[in-house]
Amino acid sequence: MLNQIKYLSTRGGESSLSYEDVLLSGLARDGGLFMPEEWPRFSLSDLNDMKGLSYAELACKIMSPFMSPCLTEDEVLKMSEDTYSNFNNDDVASLHKFEDNLHILELFHGPTLAFKDYAMQFLSRAFNKALQNKNKRGVILGATSGDTGSAALEAFKGKENIDIFILFPHGRVSEVQQKQMTWINEKGAYALSVKTDFDGCQEIVKDCFEDLTFKDQYSLSAINSINWVRLLPQIVYYFYSGLKVGAPDQEIAFSVPTGNFGNILAGWMAKKIGLPVSKLICGSNQNDILTRFFNNGIMERKNVVPSFSPSMDIQVSSNFERLLFEICDRDPLRVKEQMDTFKKTGSFQISQNEMSKVSNLFSAYMVSNDETLDIIKKAYTNYNYILDPHSAVGYGAAQKALNDKIINHDMPLVSLACAHPAKFPDIISKANNILPELPPHLKFMMSSEEKFQIIDPSVLDVQHFIKSNVRLI
Ligand SMILES: *Cc1c(COP(=O)(O)O)cnc(C)c1O
Repeated sequence: MLNQIKYLSTRGGESSLSYEDVLLSGLARDGGLFMPEEWPRFSLSDLNDMKGLSYAELACKIMSPFMSPCLTEDEVLKMSEDTYSNFNNDDVASLHKFEDNLHILELFHGPTLAFKDYAMQFLSRAFNKALQNKNKRGVILGATSGDTGSAALEAFKGKENIDIFILFPHGRVSEVQQKQMTWINEKGAYALSVKTDFDGCQEIVKDCFEDLTFKDQYSLSAINSINWVRLLPQIVYYFYSGLKVGAPDQEIAFSVPTGNFGNILAGWMAKKIGLPVSKLICGSNQNDILTRFFNNGIMERKNVVPSFSPSMDIQVSSNFERLLFEICDRDPLRVKEQMDTFKKTGSFQISQNEMSKVSNLFSAYMVSNDETLDIIKKAYTNYNYILDPHSAVGYGAAQKALNDKIINHDMPLVSLACAHPAKFPDIISKANNILPELPPHLKFMMSSEEKFQIIDPSVLDVQHFIKSNVRLI
């Protein structure tokens, strides 16, 4: 096993960085994303040894090589235990069997009931620890269309070295999503309802980061899904579930509802470091840029249309750049050229030779709104199980892959369930004529008082709010 992994940028401008450097900076200075310079590799006997481990122990085993020498294995274990004891399920990530070789992986047992908790809860601890080590304080600033903001506020609240400010579009997030952000009443954690749309919120955040004096004075950091440490903890549940359904003796197929390409990329990384993964099925809703790409090698941006799975209403999947880097044999100039073309023209194309490097592993399917409802209905009728709309897209894509014989029924298939159905009551009741029951802590949350500020869409107003509320630096 490698005992020290360095990081580089996919666009070639930075290299030899430590885990701590990439954690705190998020995005590379040249606009690229961070990747490890080398991949560790777990052997067959390592995989067999992993079988008896608890979720936190496994997390430590898999993540430690990527964090050394900044953190010792013991420190990673403590952080993992602290992170995952916070999940309201003994198993942390539990499998629900529909049929032999057909499993749903429930990734919604964290505090905000979506898979983003697995990484965000860990990230907040990693950040706090890194800042403590440097004897520094930091400010997190982010914009959200719903899920990421609640996962982030929930994860970073109460961390003594960090203040967090999340902007959300006024009146444009769902009731549950708003409550998940606004019921939090702690010093240093702020939800700001900004009188604009999501793009407007994002624009303000971007401007704050580009104001370098402001950025440096307040040590601003971003926690969006391109941060390497948002991906790392997601590798763990591929191993955890894969080992339970037959790996390493059998190859496993995974189906993943996909938006920004972070979650499914973690599946690709799991394979890279030793898990026998036979197939990664990428499910999209009508915003199907990735499905089109995997079918014709052309990445072409179109307008975003609202769907029943809002957390996947995305046209630019930022994490895809990491796979592109590998597809181009880690040639940063080629990556930069493609990304520049994409920015300028809204599309880029890879060669057949490049495509052949991923076309055996990845298959992609689009699942429409009508199909999503139909799948939710069928899962309820056939298995008495309520899938949330995102999970239904993943499961629907898996069904299409089975029908096309891309995967066969002898191979264990794990379909990722990324959110609890109670987060999307309107769509569930449309499909099944029932309302999904709220888990107890969500019931409590829905009846608590809200704390948030309504604010005009102005960079100066947001900066002023931060300046007057930030704890002493
Ligand atoms: C964020 C999210 C997704 C998309 O995951 P990516 O890593 O962005 O591809 C899918 N489902 C749910 C419920 C999400 O919150």
